[in-house]
Amino acid sequence: MLNAVDIQDQEGREHAAPMIDPFGRAVTYLRVSVTDRCDFRCTYCMAENMTFLPKKDLLTLEELDRLCSAFIAKGVRKIRLTGGEPLVRKNIMYLVRQLGKQIGSGLDELTITTNGSQLARHAQELYDCGVRRINVSLDTLDPDKFRRITRWGDFAKVMEGIDAAEKAGLKIKLNAVALKDFNEAEMPAMLRFAHGRGMDLTVIETMPMGEIEEDRTDQYLPLSKLRADLEAQFTLTDIDYQTGGPARYVRVAETGGRLGFITPLTHNFCESCNRVRLTCTGTLYMCLGQNDAADLRAALRATEDDGLLHAAIDEAITRKPKGHDFIIDRTHNRPAVARHMNVTGG
Ligand code: SAM
Ligand code: SF4
Repeated sequence: MLNAVDIQDQEGREHAAPMIDPFGRAVTYLRVSVTDRCDFRCTYCMAENMTFLPKKDLLTLEELDRLCSAFIAKGVRKIRLTGGEPLVRKNIMYLVRQLGKQIGSGLDELTITTNGSQLARHAQELYDCGVRRINVSLDTLDPDKFRRITRWGDFAKVMEGIDAAEKAGLKIKLNAVALKDFNEAEMPAMLRFAHGRGMDLTVIETMPMGEIEEDRTDQYLPLSKLRADLEAQFTLTDIDYQTGGPARYVRVAETGGRLGFITPLTHNFCESCNRVRLTCTGTLYMCLGQNDAADLRAALRATEDDGLLHAAIDEAITRKPKGHDFIIDRTHNRPAVARHMNVTGG
C-alpha cells in the first residue's frame, strides 16, 4: 500500500512520493542491519571479544518486514540488508523472500552486503527472491592475510560463495577497505582480479567507529594516495556512473572495468546522502557518523495500526543532520562515534 500522493517513474511504475529531509534531500534508501553478530572479527570493524545483543532484544523477522514495508510506503525504493553478517541471522531468507515480493511495486531494488562466508548455500535463493546485485567484502586475495584481517575467516569459502553467486546470475561488486601496509600493494592485483571476472571494485577509507584493539590512525590510508599510486600503472578516467551510493567511480582503461572510491571522512559524501540506517533492534540512525537516533520499536509495538509508525518515521527524518561528525576524540583517544560498524552495517 503506497502513500496517498503517489508518483510514477520513467518506466511507469508507481512509488510513494519520497520523504524530504530539512536539507532538501529525498530519503529513498534504507540500510537494515539484520543482526549485530558475525562469523568474522575483522580487525578494523570489531574487537575479538565482542559482546553482542541478547537475542531477545532483536526485532523478529516479521517485525523487520513490517518496518521495511512502512519505509517502502513512505517512498523508500532501495533496501540493502547488512549486519553484522546478514546471512548468519537464522531464517534470514524469510525476510528476503517477503521483501522480494515488493520489488516492482514500490521497491526498485533489494540488495545485500555480505562477507561471503555463507553465500555458496544462499546465492541461488537470493536470486530467486529477486536480488540481482550483491556486495561482497574482500580485503585481500592472500588466504593467510585474509585469515589475519578477518581473524576467523576462510578465504576458500568466500571464493566458493563468489563462484556460486556468479553462477546464480547475481552481479557482484567487491568492497575492500584500504589499509595502510596491509593491502595497499595488492590493489593492482585486486583490480585485475575483480575486473577480470566482470566485477566492479570499490575501495573504502577506514572510519573511526567503535573501540577496537588497534589504533586506527595506523591503518588509515587516504584514497588520494591510493589513486595516485594506481595512476602510475593504470589510466583512470572519472565517469558519471551512479549506484545510489556515495562512491565516485573511474573507468580503468587497461581492464575496461569500474573502480569506486568511498571517502566517508570528506563532506561531499553527505551532500547527496539519500539514506537512513535501521538496526536490528528498531533504532533508526539518520546519519552513519552521528549519534542521534530514533526508537521505532516503541511505535512498532504500540499498535498494529501503522499510523504511529509512519509518524515516528516522519519525525525522525526531520532530524536528519546535514553531515557527519567523524573526528577522533583525541583528548581521550577514542572514536567520536562509539558504536561499531556492525550495529548500523556501514
Ligand atoms: N558483514 C558484512 C560485510 O562485511 O560485508 C556486512 C557488514 S560490514 C559492517 C559492511 C562493510 O563495512 C564491509 O565492507 C566492511 O569492510 C566495512 N567496514 C566495517 N568496519 C569499517 C570501518 N571501521 N571503516 C570502514 N569500513 C568498515
Ligand atoms: Fe563481520 Fe563484516 Fe564486520 Fe568483518 S566487516 S567483522 S565480516 S560485520
